[in-house]
Amino acid sequence: MIAQVIVDIAAKQTDRIFEYHIPENISDVEIGSRVVVPFGPRKLQGFVVGISKTSNYPGKLKDLLVVVDEMPPLTPELVKLSKYMAKNVYSYRISILKTMLPRVMRANYRKILTPISKSAQKLALFKGDPVDLNNLTDNNKIALARKLLRNNEAKVEYLVENKAKKKTENQYLLSESREEYQKILNSVRRNALKQRRILTDIIENYDSYPRMQDELEKTAKITTTDLTQAVKKNWLKKAAVEVYRNPLAGFDNKKKAVTVTLNEEQEVAVDQISNSVQKQESKTYLLEGITGSGKTEVYLHTISKTLDHGRNALMLVPEISLTPQMVSQVKSRFGNKVAVLHSSLSTGELYDEWRRIRRGEIRVVVGTRSAVFAPIKNLGLIVIDEEHESSYKQEDNPRYHARNVALWRSDFNNCPLVLGSATPSLYSRARAQKGIYHLLKLTKRANNKNLPQVNLIDLKHAEFAGDQFDLSTDLVNAIKDRLSKNEQVILMLNRRGFANFMLCRECGYVMKCPNCDLSLTMHKDTHEMQCHYCGYTAPIPEKCPNCQSDKIRFLGTGTQKVQEELEQLMPDAKILRMDVDTTRRKGSYKKILDKFGDHEADILLGTQMIAKGLDFPNVTLVGVVNADTGLWVPDYNAAERTFELLTQVAGRAGRAEKAGEVIIQTYNPEHYAIELAQTQDYERFYAYEMQMRHAGNYPPYYYTVLISIASKKEQNAAREAFKIKRKLASSLHSNTIILGPTPSAISRLKNQYYYQILVKYKKEDNLNDLLHQIQNSAQEIKKYGLNVYIDNEPERIV
Ligand code: ADP
Ligand code: ZN
Ligand code: ZN
Repeated sequence: MIAQVIVDIAAKQTDRIFEYHIPENISDVEIGSRVVVPFGPRKLQGFVVGISKTSNYPGKLKDLLVVVDEMPPLTPELVKLSKYMAKNVYSYRISILKTMLPRVMRANYRKILTPISKSAQKLALFKGDPVDLNNLTDNNKIALARKLLRNNEAKVEYLVENKAKKKTENQYLLSESREEYQKILNSVRRNALKQRRILTDIIENYDSYPRMQDELEKTAKITTTDLTQAVKKNWLKKAAVEVYRNPLAGFDNKKKAVTVTLNEEQEVAVDQISNSVQKQESKTYLLEGITGSGKTEVYLHTISKTLDHGRNALMLVPEISLTPQMVSQVKSRFGNKVAVLHSSLSTGELYDEWRRIRRGEIRVVVGTRSAVFAPIKNLGLIVIDEEHESSYKQEDNPRYHARNVALWRSDFNNCPLVLGSATPSLYSRARAQKGIYHLLKLTKRANNKNLPQVNLIDLKHAEFAGDQFDLSTDLVNAIKDRLSKNEQVILMLNRRGFANFMLCRECGYVMKCPNCDLSLTMHKDTHEMQCHYCGYTAPIPEKCPNCQSDKIRFLGTGTQKVQEELEQLMPDAKILRMDVDTTRRKGSYKKILDKFGDHEADILLGTQMIAKGLDFPNVTLVGVVNADTGLWVPDYNAAERTFELLTQVAGRAGRAEKAGEVIIQTYNPEHYAIELAQTQDYERFYAYEMQMRHAGNYPPYYYTVLISIASKKEQNAAREAFKIKRKLASSLHSNTIILGPTPSAISRLKNQYYYQILVKYKKEDNLNDLLHQIQNSAQEIKKYGLNVYIDNEPERIV
């Protein structure tokens, strides 16, 4: 038999399929297996994408060396998906195959020297064991190893290991019958108390065996030494068994699994979706429901119905900060059948969760973007919560959108896909309008509470709570009022750090990152200026680095500054801050949210992390410190992003008994994105924004492809960009719009200059081929330090 393998080599030939002969002694090669193959002088990892009996290769095929995993990590479905994706996201198949695996599943190879002659085995060097050649540093031993190889007294073998190891724990098994234990007990001396205790315990718990060490020590209070004794005396047998690391250990389900009665709109949604599950229809539903309308309940009910039909479910959530509350709800409904996949799991946890799924022990997977590749079989339902979120698009190679991958899997598995949002992306909503997706609406809050009252504060005319403060007196008074009633407040400012740039009032100098075309953000807590893109840091200057003047100002507020203002204004209030800086450590999101949920703090201050999905019944006021942070970025969807962020954060207020209020501070109260966020009127926003997109020839009226060209030398990037532009212009329709090349809005990042070309088109049959040609020639010019990135349907066009 012959295996078709995509080999993990950089550059050029990567999408070529290489054939290897499968030797007799390797029986477990399947489509989706990860293997090690000889490649020139090297041994490389690869993935089996096909198996055949014959080959057209004229020469003699080399033998495949090793199968890495006990089970093929990829399913045939995922192997097939990788082919579709390579075509559509302009990436190489090998990088897609690797993206599908958790990053811990990259193999390590070791060259092992195994002694084969009797005399070699006696050598002290080996002590009869194989030796890791990679770790051999002693010159004498290296010389000895060489000699053994020359004399055929040893051979080289390749050992493959996963970076993540299985976890094992000790298990104790019985070795006698119950009666026999009784006899032993009777024969043990009266004063051998420990022995008597163990034997008594064994007899009493005879039926619970085999038992885990941990459990024995905790519940039976039998010490490790006692257990060792029992094994020595042959009363018990010890064995190491594999256990799964549980990322949800210690996950107390604060949210009790309450069974709610669905309201009419929810009922309709659940019925329609479950109907498609049953009929195995690959329909796409857009579940458009205002914040608090009970979309989560709809997901949970449909998942439950899916399981009833004997099929499995996959649910994507946008961000890790949303996961704790969502996960605890899914977990409390479906218990051990649930696996969680996201990047802040430990290496071992990710490895275990992933294998549980692969082994078919899991019925529901919940996870972030890359969980869309979960190797779950028999899919009956896919849900994407908050489908408008840009985090579903991967910004690096391969630049895939989880929504598109989910569409493909829904098609492949004949199962429905549910896209849920209070503020659907224009992309999805336009498809629903056309009837490509099926629109389901939830128009009321589930508990019949009204949407919160939203008030705008025009900062142009506002009174501020202090000199150089960002909080207005009105907002501060509202916060104080809520705190006096023992209610809680969420405050959002979508900018971290203390001040987002340093400006010299004398000479106009702005302190910038030496590697990027970006100003440095001042972080007071760590006493440094930081580049939020590349991580460059510098001390906070006391004088202008340019003219030595001391008239320097730190402008543009971040969350740290607002925290300081709050502390000054309300010294008694307890404040939690949630942004990238406070959530670097594993589990810190959950800690902060749990604390806030337990009312150990009055104010939760944070970036957009806190805007979405959170459900805290005691929060009655939501404040937005500055609604304009994303409004003037040079991107066609700036208004959409702003509207959506404000609507989402407003939805955090007044979700339970007490009525909610939202206060939005802005310098642009007349901007339509802000005006319509005040009334949380998605329909009007959609209609208006569609007109704007139509006028500007933007998505969803046009498809877009963004081509970025980067180089350390600016001229080289520009020259290559013009070359690509000419190639496109000569081959595309005249009604296709090609914009650029222009320097990108942030023209330099990590010392690379960026130029970009934007292609807007309605229908272009040649474009896919053309872009693959550009992609292939991009491989050629890499050696000149030029990088070309192709982004199909970019989330940002800056
Ligand atoms: P969304 O995800 O649409 O913002 P959630 O699913 O979080 O809304 O629901 C908001 C609140 O309403 C939750 O506390 C939820 O338990 C509750 N809820 C949902 N459906 C119902 C219902 N049918 N009856 C009563 N309460 C409900
Ligand atoms: Zn200066
Ligand atoms: Zn930088």
